[in-house]
Amino acid sequence: MKAAYYQGKESIAVAECRPVAPGAGQVQIAVSHCGICGTDVHLYHGRMDHRVKMPQVIGHEMSGTIVSVGDSVAGYAPGDRVTVRPLDPCGECPACRNGHSHICMKLKFIGIDAPGALQALWTVPAHTLHRIPANLSLEQAALIEPIAVACHDVRMGELKAGEYAVVQGGGPIGTLVALVARAYGARVLVTEVNPFRVELARSLGLAVADPRSVDVVKLVEDQTGGAGADVVFEVSGSAAGAELMTKLPRVRGRMVMVAIFADQPKVDLFRFFWRELKLVGARVYEPEDFEAAIALAARGAIPIDSIITKRLPIEEITEGFHEIERGGAVMKILIECGGR
Ligand SMILES: [Zn+2]
Ligand SMILES: [Zn+2]
Repeated sequence: MKAAYYQGKESIAVAECRPVAPGAGQVQIAVSHCGICGTDVHLYHGRMDHRVKMPQVIGHEMSGTIVSVGDSVAGYAPGDRVTVRPLDPCGECPACRNGHSHICMKLKFIGIDAPGALQALWTVPAHTLHRIPANLSLEQAALIEPIAVACHDVRMGELKAGEYAVVQGGGPIGTLVALVARAYGARVLVTEVNPFRVELARSLGLAVADPRSVDVVKLVEDQTGGAGADVVFEVSGSAAGAELMTKLPRVRGRMVMVAIFADQPKVDLFRFFWRELKLVGARVYEPEDFEAAIALAARGAIPIDSIITKRLPIEEITEGFHEIERGGAVMKILIECGGR
């Protein structure tokens, strides 16, 4: 039984897993699969060292089977297949008291601020659990967490069936936002520059434009009878994306800020006044977003198998990080954690 320990910038050691017996209100999970997320790459590059206690197991996009439950855990038993909503809010701050515990002011993100899922046996609070339906494999269920991100983004954008959405950025989250938007009946355009990701999105039946060679403002106007997009999702995190974002929405259109910008980008504020635009931020997810993601996945509305571009045993996890750093032909990489 192995675990992947982050031990400082660009260094991960795979060593024996040190299981923690579940205490009151906790369960222990045999982790099947865990995806590598953009946040994990950020962490791997040493940019979150102030939050991790090294050496620490990271990872949070997972699936697995409960092996044991602690005292006072109701509704879950060994053998249950589950995924984890990796948020541990304080329950007492103003945000928590106002019902926004997913953006708790002292939020602990499990996998960054507490040990994560890249290990054979993982102990977590039972309040984080969601059940995996029988018709999803454990491999597929490892994508429920990023699909829940996309469900939250689409919900925050108040996207309705028949509306026109632009998704700026066709990486794993952008592609999932586009697929969730389509599943809810929206017309979707993805903007992306990486040729592999452009082709992958096209193979999933999505309309894609490379903003370096296509006039996206004109394309969106042409496709909306001159009105503009109902909703724009900014997932690229690029200066060009921030600049383009406000040029695409219709009068009273909405924008959803999904990307995490390292530097403050230039944004055309004039457009907010001119078209009465709305901008909303979207961070992680709430329980209903996990349930929505599970429902979409279970009815086959998201082509999960096509998003997974590689599976690696936990011993080869560093190769997974290197592949994402190199870019190119990569979407979602899953790590086999060996917990059954
Ligand atoms: Zn993630
Ligand atoms: Zn709180």
